[in-house]
Amino acid sequence: MTFELPKLPYKYDSLEPYIDEQTMKIHHDKHHQTYTDNFNKAFEKYPGFLKKSVEEILIDLSKIPEEIRTAVKNNGGGYYNHLLFWQILSGDKKNQKFEGKVAEAVEKQFDGFDNFKILLSDAAMKRFGSGWAWLVYNPILKKLEVYSTSNQDCPLSEGKIPLLLIDVWEHAFYLHYLNKKADYVSAIWNVINWKKVNELYEKALKS
Ligand code: MN
Repeated sequence: MTFELPKLPYKYDSLEPYIDEQTMKIHHDKHHQTYTDNFNKAFEKYPGFLKKSVEEILIDLSKIPEEIRTAVKNNGGGYYNHLLFWQILSGDKKNQKFEGKVAEAVEKQFDGFDNFKILLSDAAMKRFGSGWAWLVYNPILKKLEVYSTSNQDCPLSEGKIPLLLIDVWEHAFYLHYLNKKADYVSAIWNVINWKKVNELYEKALKS
């Protein structure tokens, strides 16, 4: 048994003009495939872990043998983060409505959608080097949080539940936006799958 890369859940050009077809092809077929391959490779000497889910593995990295822990954190994070990233994007207007329980919680907790958008965009812009900006649910404090992580570090490893994420690695935008990261961060708001984010939030509330 190995971890597999599922097909992109929509066409490569579905997010045009905000995220271009070529970027999606290379990002999914090359970058995500490489994380997937290297995640599997990390367990060559420890195949027992391949029976677990990627979530189970990332939730408690201390259970991973030290000699492969960094490879598992980086490539498991890359594998999981991108799986989620494809799902929380959509070019379909029906999925883009900011509504439901997550919309209520975001508005209440961050003092309106506009302010939330500023906070998450700011987290994305201020992440120096490669990483991700996140909206997560903190099940201990029972509230939403916005922050960023470096590299492929995943909030699951800090006991948090990912709901929405923005890839701020250069590979996510450079082909189309070149050095204009702010234009990419601003464009991505047009293709957020709020229907999916709301599903993740409702599930997180039950955790
Ligand atoms: Mn990426």
